[in-house]
Amino acid sequence: MRHPWWMSGVKFACQSNCGKCCDEPGGIVYLSKHDARRISSSMGLAVEEWLERDCQRTLDGRYILKSRETDGICIYLSEQKTCQIYENRPQQCAAYPWWGENLATDRSWRQTKQECPGLTAEDAITIDGNTIKIHVLADRQSTKGFRKW
Ligand code: SF4
Repeated sequence: MRHPWWMSGVKFACQSNCGKCCDEPGGIVYLSKHDARRISSSMGLAVEEWLERDCQRTLDGRYILKSRETDGICIYLSEQKTCQIYENRPQQCAAYPWWGENLATDRSWRQTKQECPGLTAEDAITIDGNTIKIHVLADRQSTKGFRKW
């Protein structure tokens, strides 16, 4: 089978105080069970309590992070455009920009490059294909999500 184009590596460096990938009204952050365990524990909450407080469900029942009612943006994005749970952020957030939907076609990748300054930054370094693959799989797992705890 042919390797995907990104297996030879892609240049990227996440830019501090950027927040562009989070600052998206109506953006959805899918969660894995691992995320739920990790994030709730970092807040000293039982998983069920955290799901009730900080999560909501999609129409088909998957758990996702809540968005602010005022602007539809993730509840964890601060005014300074930083993630307040960065060290424990969901694996789908950590996997950006290596989402299957971004890498799928030339067109979707061109669009992602326009949206994410880290892909054209001067300090970008080559991220190897195996690392990208781990993120692609993590994104896929999160998107499947979970409906029951
Ligand atoms: S959890 Fe953090 S990284 Fe993920 S969308 Fe929210 S603010 Fe951004």
